[in-house]
Order: sequence, then structure tokens, then C-alpha cells
Amino acid sequence: MTMTNTRLVAAALVSLAIGAAVAAQSPQLGYSDTPLLPGTKWHVHDGMRPQPTIVMPGAPGEPVPAPADAVVLFDGRDLSRWQTADGKLPGWRVMNGAMVVQPMSGDVVSKDTFGDVQLHIEFATPEKVEGNGQNRGNSGVFLMERYEVQVLDSFKNQTYPDGQAGAVYGQFPPLVNASRGPGQWQTYDIVFIAPRFANGKLVSPGRATVFHNDVLVQHDVTLIGQTVHREIGTYEPHADRLPIKLQDHGNPTKFRNIWARRLQ
Ligand code: MG
Repeated sequence: MTMTNTRLVAAALVSLAIGAAVAAQSPQLGYSDTPLLPGTKWHVHDGMRPQPTIVMPGAPGEPVPAPADAVVLFDGRDLSRWQTADGKLPGWRVMNGAMVVQPMSGDVVSKDTFGDVQLHIEFATPEKVEGNGQNRGNSGVFLMERYEVQVLDSFKNQTYPDGQAGAVYGQFPPLVNASRGPGQWQTYDIVFIAPRFANGKLVSPGRATVFHNDVLVQHDVTLIGQTVHREIGTYEPHADRLPIKLQDHGNPTKFRNIWARRLQ
């Protein structure tokens, strides 16, 4: 057996062992009294839904430089392109080149607005592991302030699959779990196609593709509506362009190197 093969087999055995240790499904992980998701046998936040397979991503690299046509929303220096939802100075802190959630200070939204977009964002859940399930490293990247790609510490931390890292919250679990450990920098690369409305009615729904640490976790999924807790979200007509929102869910998760390209 070559060196490479030996390493591959060893890696496969490790991932099998991890998978066996954490693959249990449990109603306690989620809910069974919520509505059924359309076209599936699963309830919203169903704890019995199969846990996504764990895929170890490649080693973390340097921050990915912004391309020339990107809007740089955070380059490690200041929060000048961010505000609270009601237009005030954000309460989050900038530390060591990262913007850090200050629990209870509220969500932050970009001053720039976007419709169809390619978004690159890096995050790290707290190194000091506290809480379980939805209470460990929870934040979120909300496209157009209402469509959430979940941010969570999903490394050895089970929750309902449609609420783990890389999920379109409450709608689509990630295809696999490509999470790195707490405190490690991770990346999301998101392509979001905005919903279209005309005369107060939905013309075409939103769609999302997401790479987590360069691993595909959402492939052109069609959003059911806004992402909400315990319910099936619907679409409410809104503007063509809206801010990107980052969530304060009470955990000091941090972000860096955020840039976005308007598409078309
Ligand atoms: Mg969240």
C-alpha cells in the first residue's frame, strides 16, 4: 500500500469512527410538532432527520483576497459599512482584524444593499466551547435581511439538521457537514439569486448555492420563503436590493474578510 493510500484509509477509518459516534438521530434534537416541509416527510427542525455526513474540509488557508469588482464590507479595520437594523452605530467590536458579536447588542446590517450576489464571508465560532445545539456559536448570514444561511459550531455538536452550519435555516440541511472546530476560521461562499416580485406577488422564488470551507453544501436550492423558527416561512414582497444582516444570537462568534459581488 502506498503512503497516500495508507493515509486515505486511515482518514476513512477516522471519519467512520466519528460518524458512528455522532450519527444518532433523536427527537430531542429538534421538533416533531412543527409543520411538514413541502415535498418531504420531515417536520421543520425535525430531530429525526438524518444527520449530514461529516466531511473533513482541507486545511484552512489565508483569507481569500477580494476581487476587483467586489464591495468590501469588512477588511479587518472598522465597522464603517455596518449599522444596526434601525441605523445606529453597531455594538459589535473589532478585535485582531475580526468583527465580533457583542451578545445583546443586536444584529448588524450592511449599509450597502444587494439583490443577486456572490458573497464571501469568513467566521469562527468561539474557541471556548459553551452551550449545546443551537446555543453553541450561533449567528447567521441573512441575505436581504431575511434569508438565513445558519452559522453554528457544528463540530461535534448535533442539532436538528436544518439548523446546523451551512443550513438554509429551517428549510434545507447542508448536503454534508464540512465544519471546522471551534475557534478555527471557516468560509462561506454563497451565490444568492433574489426572489422577484411584481404587483405585490411573487414572480420567482429566491435560490441559493453555498460552499462551506470550499465544500458544496447547498446546490441551487429554491427557498420556500423567509427563514423562520418552527414555521414554514412565506414570501413578503420587498425591495430589489436589501442589506446583508449578521445575527446576534447571544454567542461571541466572529467574522472577517467579507466581500460581495453584485451579479449581472
Ligand atoms: Mg442563526
